[in-house]
Amino acid sequence: MTSSAETQPAHEAMRPHVVLFASPGMGHLIPMTELARMLASPLLNLAVTIITKAPTLSSSENDKESFCSSLPSSVNVVFLPKTDPCDNSFTEVFLSASSSLPALRETIRSLKSSTKVVALIVDFLSVDTIDVARELDLPFFVFGPLSLMALSFLLNSPVIDRETTMEFCDMPVIKFPGWCTEIHGIDLGAAYQDRKSESYRMALHMANQILKADGILCNSFYELEPGLASILKDKEPNHPLVYTIGPLVRSIPNQQLDSSGCIDWLNHRPNDSVLFVSFGSEGTLSSEQITELAWGLELSQQHFLWVVRCPNGSSGTKLLPEGFIERNKGGLVVQSWVSQTEILGHKSTGGFLTHCGWNSVLESIMNGVPMIAWPLFAEQSINAKMLVNGIGVALRPGVQDGSIVPRDAIATVVRELMQGKGSRDARKTALELKAAGGKALSEDGSSFKNLSEWKKSI
Ligand code: UDP
Ligand code: UDP
Repeated sequence: MTSSAETQPAHEAMRPHVVLFASPGMGHLIPMTELARMLASPLLNLAVTIITKAPTLSSSENDKESFCSSLPSSVNVVFLPKTDPCDNSFTEVFLSASSSLPALRETIRSLKSSTKVVALIVDFLSVDTIDVARELDLPFFVFGPLSLMALSFLLNSPVIDRETTMEFCDMPVIKFPGWCTEIHGIDLGAAYQDRKSESYRMALHMANQILKADGILCNSFYELEPGLASILKDKEPNHPLVYTIGPLVRSIPNQQLDSSGCIDWLNHRPNDSVLFVSFGSEGTLSSEQITELAWGLELSQQHFLWVVRCPNGSSGTKLLPEGFIERNKGGLVVQSWVSQTEILGHKSTGGFLTHCGWNSVLESIMNGVPMIAWPLFAEQSINAKMLVNGIGVALRPGVQDGSIVPRDAIATVVRELMQGKGSRDARKTALELKAAGGKALSEDGSSFKNLSEWKKSI
């Protein structure tokens, strides 16, 4: 698909046109395309172009093409040529935006020559594109596919940097106004664990660029993070106005993806009986931890559907204890990319052991599924603390000191979530949040109102 601006009728050329720039990685592309769908819906009626990089070779990328082609015809997708290979780590993704600047500038110039481009919205890891927006005289907005709490940390990080020289890992308590719980410095991503590192410099630069934006659209919703939503919605001199516009979660599942037969397998399991275990598009565990998780699932005696992903694409099933598959007929182990939203929406799925990537969290909530939090990198530990200690929609294995989580702790928390008393509150909260999330996106809901307000501002 490419832009069809030249062939548009005159009234179409006058419709306000918003350009979105997505960072590589499914965790960034999926919510951005959902944002495009919402902006192009009849109620908001904006023309939308998504600009992103041509598919790379990761396992998810077949999904990327088919996902983009599922968009309504009023949303154009422009694939920029792929430049350097990008491994989707924070630093690589961040740098890849800079290498796209010339192509981005040319694409927007060409769109501007025939349509009424009114704003550029970019993923928060691609904020160096602000230079293009300023050059082309376009309002510049940042899209944050992350929790308000993680966003709030980012917005505050330059202040911490200025006011203290202490390493983050030595800060026992970090808490800002509106946070539903406190965190420890070690809950921050790898970039924050060494203030002399290049990735810390980049994270700080990213935060400073975000602070220059004309506004921030965050994929959370008022009812999920009310304290912070109220605080960040007030225009303050020290940060741009933050609009909560979520929960934007994948609305079109990719049925062709069920090559491993997950849905058919789930169809034959009792309601709410299966724990879905997956660590997102990138997350992998050490071989020792995979073995321990396998034993934990076996000891829990619960049904499970486990997506095993190994570093460098090596075979995960080789790391499972001998005879594991044969002994655990109530479990299914797959190694492929799965249709996660369909699995979470299936009536047999009763729990989700997740790495707490923000899309996975929202997808779980929007299907009323309580979680076990198992954060791995980036802002996931912030999300985990919020879900477990602040909101109460997730449980967490008892042992969490950064070392291997042992099988007994895993079995205990799995049993607790699937059968125990502790899960009742988490399940109830998940269902309440599901209802609140659906309402937030409806015509008189908080997120839809925020997006309409944002539209008026451009
Ligand atoms: N996803 C999927 N199938 C998979 C793995 C991931 O559809 O096998 C989707 C998942 O539903 C979510 C996104 O990929 O929408 C992952 O985003 P998230 O923020 O949870 O984690 P990340 O992959 O960015 O760490
Ligand atoms: N970050 C994020 N989502 C991502 C990657 C990074 O929110 O998918 C942000 C987050 O604020 C995090 C910072 O980038 O604290 C740096 O993350 P980290 O150094 O852990 O990234 P890694 O290189 O380990 O992926």
